[in-house]
Amino acid sequence: MQPTIRLYDLDFSSLRSLLAEWGEPAYRARQLWEWLYVHLAADFDQMTNLPKPLRERLAAETTTGALPVVDTARSAGGKTRKDLLRLADGETVEAVLMRYERRRTACISTQVGCAVGCPFCATGQAGFRRDLTSGEIVAQALYFARQLQAERDRLTNVVLMGMGEPLLNYESSLAAIRRLMDDGGFNLGQRHITLSTVGIVPGIEQLAGEDLQITLAVSLHAATDALRDQLVPINRRYRLDALFEACYGYVERTGRRVSFEWALIEGVNDAPEQARALAARLVGLLAHVNLIPLNPTQGYSGSPSSNTTLDAFTAELDRFHVPYTLRVRRGAEIQAGCGQLRQRQAR
Ligand code: SAH
Ligand code: SF4
Repeated sequence: MQPTIRLYDLDFSSLRSLLAEWGEPAYRARQLWEWLYVHLAADFDQMTNLPKPLRERLAAETTTGALPVVDTARSAGGKTRKDLLRLADGETVEAVLMRYERRRTACISTQVGCAVGCPFCATGQAGFRRDLTSGEIVAQALYFARQLQAERDRLTNVVLMGMGEPLLNYESSLAAIRRLMDDGGFNLGQRHITLSTVGIVPGIEQLAGEDLQITLAVSLHAATDALRDQLVPINRRYRLDALFEACYGYVERTGRRVSFEWALIEGVNDAPEQARALAARLVGLLAHVNLIPLNPTQGYSGSPSSNTTLDAFTAELDRFHVPYTLRVRRGAEIQAGCGQLRQRQAR
């Protein structure tokens, strides 16, 4: 029989039902779950406390869903690596591991490509292929966790900030988050998980009701509708007023600070007026702004803001007491910008 069931796609209760159907005692589900999410086993031979016939049946009828790597790029200092992983149907997705002083952060994808089509984004330039399953999302985090485990290290943070728009693949993204959080399994703290959205208002509203303590990041890039319409096409559907109302709602429901992402593009969204418009939008909102100089991509002519422009922009934010972080362009030299490694393969 062809392997059809991907174990990473199952939540614990589905895994339990599967093994019950197979006539296995109840405790086997817990054992298998721990092999998958605590020991991070990638194949069944490692699962030594499972009887051989069960391991053979698992090998014949299921796969874990671990993803093979097809391409890797490493930053000069080795702190950032980016891997292109192959899915069962031959599609590929990117996942990035960033090593900071204490944190080990995996940036993972939720879709193959993206339908939103932000012009500066390599993923958007390539168009939409398909949604990922929850298991395909989880597998990217486990891929890095397994490597770190081999170095006696561990993955501490996960950001859904790779290819795709998580709130347009809502169910699988949320299932993946809950699976990574499971305290009998991978046990990743909610506060160590970030979901980045382009601003899908109904999705933010739904997320606010999930009773989760994850961080919401909103890719803002502009604080006036006229400019944001150009940079983030979905802004024509979900205007800034509605987006900020949803963000206020998110903070109210969760008590969590919202992050706003802003890729600084020379001469486009880096004028002091935009900084002032941003400050005005943030009044009374528990928020933090992440400024990132644009990562140049093939299909977009914009360039990162110069240091002088950047200083003027941040001076304006300082003046209005807007909390922000100026991010270094991590891994720009390895094309760590979203969608760029896949673009390189396609060439
Ligand atoms: N679709 C989601 C999550 C994936 S994109 C979103 O848009 O939020 C992850 C982040 O990378 C977003 O903040 C996006 O705006 C940013 N990004 C995409 N292309 C970029 C580029 N060329 N330079 C800098 N940031 C970029
Ligand atoms: Fe999609 Fe996000 Fe890229 Fe926009 S920035 S095209 S929403 S992945």
